[in-house]
Amino acid sequence: MPARILIAEDNRASLELVEYLLGTRGYTTRAASNGGEGLRIAREMVPDLVICDLQMPVLNGYEVVRVLKADPLLGPIPVIALTAYSMPGDRDKAIAAGFNGYLSKPIDPETFIAEIEHFLRPELRARRTENGSQSEP
Ligand code: MN
Repeated sequence: MPARILIAEDNRASLELVEYLLGTRGYTTRAASNGGEGLRIAREMVPDLVICDLQMPVLNGYEVVRVLKADPLLGPIPVIALTAYSMPGDRDKAIAAGFNGYLSKPIDPETFIAEIEHFLRPELRARRTENGSQSEP
């Protein structure tokens, strides 16, 4: 069963791209446009993976991951940081804050799925189709 993935991202274009890339691979997605909504939906759906923008209204990504990782039920879920402000040290700061992984924008459609699937147990990864639905360079 392909993973159910929560995306918390306030940038509409970025959110739509991530939803599109995951959806066409067979993943179920839920979207939140700020950190508070992200936490509410996380508690409701208990996703298999969370993709979380760092700069968001209400609660930012650091605040979201802190709450998720302190929760006994939600803590084990992989949380991937997504940010437009990629500076030296950002990755280490995100990992130190509790994120399991880090992706910087702009999103590369060629590598995005593979990068996300790295954080999913094999049984949660979408099956490849016969002709290969993942585009090759
Ligand atoms: Mn943002």
